[in-house]
Amino acid sequence: MDHNSLDHDREAHENQNLNIETLCIHAGQPPYPSTGALAMPISLSTGFEYSHTDSFSDLERPLCSTVQSLEELIAACESTKYAIAFPSGLAAICSVFNLACPGMHIIVGIDVYIGARYPFSKLTNTMDNVSSDYIDFSNIENVRNAIKPNTKVIWLETFSNPLLNVPDIKLISEIAHQHNIILVVDNTLGTPYVIKPINHGADIVVHSATKFINGHCDVLQGIVCTSDLEIYRKTREYQSLMADSPNPFDCYLAIRGMKTLHLRMKKSAKNAMKCALFLKSHPKVDFVRYPGLPDHPNYEYVKREMRNAGAVITWRIKGGEEEMKNFYYSLKIIDVAYASLGGVKSIINDPWLSKAYQETCQLPNNILRFSVGCEHYEDLIHDLSQALDKV
Ligand SMILES: *Cc1c(COP(=O)(O)O)cnc(C)c1O
Repeated sequence: MDHNSLDHDREAHENQNLNIETLCIHAGQPPYPSTGALAMPISLSTGFEYSHTDSFSDLERPLCSTVQSLEELIAACESTKYAIAFPSGLAAICSVFNLACPGMHIIVGIDVYIGARYPFSKLTNTMDNVSSDYIDFSNIENVRNAIKPNTKVIWLETFSNPLLNVPDIKLISEIAHQHNIILVVDNTLGTPYVIKPINHGADIVVHSATKFINGHCDVLQGIVCTSDLEIYRKTREYQSLMADSPNPFDCYLAIRGMKTLHLRMKKSAKNAMKCALFLKSHPKVDFVRYPGLPDHPNYEYVKREMRNAGAVITWRIKGGEEEMKNFYYSLKIIDVAYASLGGVKSIINDPWLSKAYQETCQLPNNILRFSVGCEHYEDLIHDLSQALDKV
């Protein structure tokens, strides 16, 4: 395998006929050539013999084999030619801005992940004269109306975080490409098990691998995937310039986590559906949003295009903050935890929302984000039920 050549079709490409379950376990991880080891070794070398580095440009840092392995694995699973691993999801997101700055206009979903809102609105605005519009993607006319002559990027999330809107990627990609706009899809809450956005017309797929890709709440990591050689080259160059390389230990853990992605996503989505139905029928709950429920506005799209409806439920308890806190403090199995989701352990939190954000999104107060894990659903429902009894 020639790891360093950019122009040949990567292993990811050859793997296109394999199912995701097989790719999760095999892609990017042949037995290690020098020893035959079946598990990818953690390679920590930061120096590389001269003869192995000649295909890199001056601006490119050679990659250690553990990082390469993760990149090939994710590229294969997302059906892209290339993937670039970053030390966090946010680092991956920021790298994409490099492609279109300065002076660009960007169209983003109204309830885009709050952490991404900072580079979209604050950082890039002051540094690079970037402007952004936040729109509701469920009405396709909003997309057409928001496009300006300097619009360079449309940014979607497969399941938006936290409102779980599910935009039609194919429809939006057609509009984007008519105007030479790059379509970026953040597939963090979806994962390639649920949908492969590149096959629906996305140009770039980004991940916070911190979440479902790794799946165990013990790694901070991001990935950018694309099949466009120019985007790949620019992003790799940016990564080297910014010294934005991931840590091989984390890559090893993410590779290990990926081996069970399909099992985790299947189990978590099944659990999520059971929990969503339970919450929906509960008299103390007045708002449940889960893309697998027929009353979700994008249910038909989810049924048609996706493997399942994901593992996150957004919901609300009747009443106010006090009711929410009583519920929180009564949970026994489900963790109330911040700054993560997408692990095998179920986690509930109230997604931090600024007032302005809440107003633009017209979000109800005190919504809860429930990242459903891989426990037995009866135990999860029992825990929800006994905690709701205390409200
Ligand atoms: C968490 C998250 C990110 C940011 O990822 P980090 O790895 O925490 O930097 C980006 N997008 C979405 C949708 C997320 O949920």
